[in-house]
Amino acid sequence: MTRQYFGRKRILVTGGAGFLGSHLIDRLLDRGDEVLCVDNLFTGDKSNIDHLSGHPRFEFMRHDICFPLYVEVDQIFNLACPASPVHYQHDPVQTTKTSVHGAINMLGLAKRLNCRIFQASTSEVYGDPSVHPQPEEYWGNVNPIGIRSCYDEGKRCAETLFFDYHRQHDLEIKVVRIFNTYGPRMHPADGRVVSNFIMQALAGEDITMYGDGSQSRSFCFYSDLIDGFLKLMDSPPEVTGPINIGNPVEFTIRELAELVLELTGAKSKLLFKPLPQDDPTQRKPDITKARELLGWEPKVQLREGLLETIAYFRRFFD
Ligand code: NAD
Ligand code: UDP
Ligand code: UDP
Repeated sequence: MTRQYFGRKRILVTGGAGFLGSHLIDRLLDRGDEVLCVDNLFTGDKSNIDHLSGHPRFEFMRHDICFPLYVEVDQIFNLACPASPVHYQHDPVQTTKTSVHGAINMLGLAKRLNCRIFQASTSEVYGDPSVHPQPEEYWGNVNPIGIRSCYDEGKRCAETLFFDYHRQHDLEIKVVRIFNTYGPRMHPADGRVVSNFIMQALAGEDITMYGDGSQSRSFCFYSDLIDGFLKLMDSPPEVTGPINIGNPVEFTIRELAELVLELTGAKSKLLFKPLPQDDPTQRKPDITKARELLGWEPKVQLREGLLETIAYFRRFFD
């Protein structure tokens, strides 16, 4: 049975008040969909969706996806989960519950509605990778009992659940492995490296460099990532993923700090701090599959994306 009226889809976005979820919602509304945003506001912020209050095709529901949810929709994007190490380690049991119980509830909902469901997985499923760059076939190198495990293993278990619901119940699934993504609407106290460095530079504070800064990441601008999300969700049913979406241009964390200092014009010094336990030493996506199956690749260079992000964070200093 279809629940589409006038050709409009009703789309559930969990974690919709967060950084990525709120940008996704903007894009869905722009193309004419109806959106139900479900969020418990743990790391998300209502200010990310304030501009949508009163929008005739937008609705917000405060709800924790660890509990069952009975609504009627045509598609589900499951993004609910704290993403910054500082936040997901704050209440690690809740992080695992969100990934695992949350996935079970959202998959149960998708099963009842027989609707397509998308999972925001992560490059963290590769752990501290011994294969570089990381293709989707790589099974990863993950510590099951460390301080990052609540997130890494939670997301790995969620992937398992998605593929078992697909095999066992014929559910249409779309699993994306997101590599470090940044941009406007990251919370100023989010704790991830891009927002930390920019906030510190703009405040004239020291830049907190964990370790010697030789560890690497590949940074994707949010708009490129959301393009990839939509291409994957609208791809044929046999394209299930997991599929890497990220920017394959790799930077050391020290290079990132230098670029932030150059673009902000700040004179901050580097303050070296110990490297957190299990911090991955390198990370870079192999995006061959995204190119071939989705015709997707990122367009925004780090310098360009950082300038837009810096402009956004300046509002906290006005
Ligand atoms: P975010 O913290 O800004 O957003 C997560 C949202 O989920 C928040 O609004 C939060 O309040 C909500 N949430 C958390 N637990 C919930 C629960 N139990 N029930 C309902 N809502 C809950 O982070 P983000 O960067 O926007 O990340 C979104 C998704 O993408 C997450 O699943 C994350 O794991 C994944 N991801 C992000 C990145 C990245 O670099 N941004 C990388 C890999 C994966
Ligand atoms: N569920 C939900 N909304 C629904 C249907 C199911 O939140 O519309 C939850 C429900 O809590 C259930 C879980 O999803 O425990 C898994 O559902 P499934 O049908 O796979 O399993 P079962 O109901 O047999 O536990
Ligand atoms: N990092 C840092 N200073 C900070 C925050 C993070 O040097 O203030 C480092 C962190 O140790 C890691 C990298 O930057 O090596 C990316 O960290 P982030 O928390 O953004 O994401 P991760 O990829 O580790 O999940």
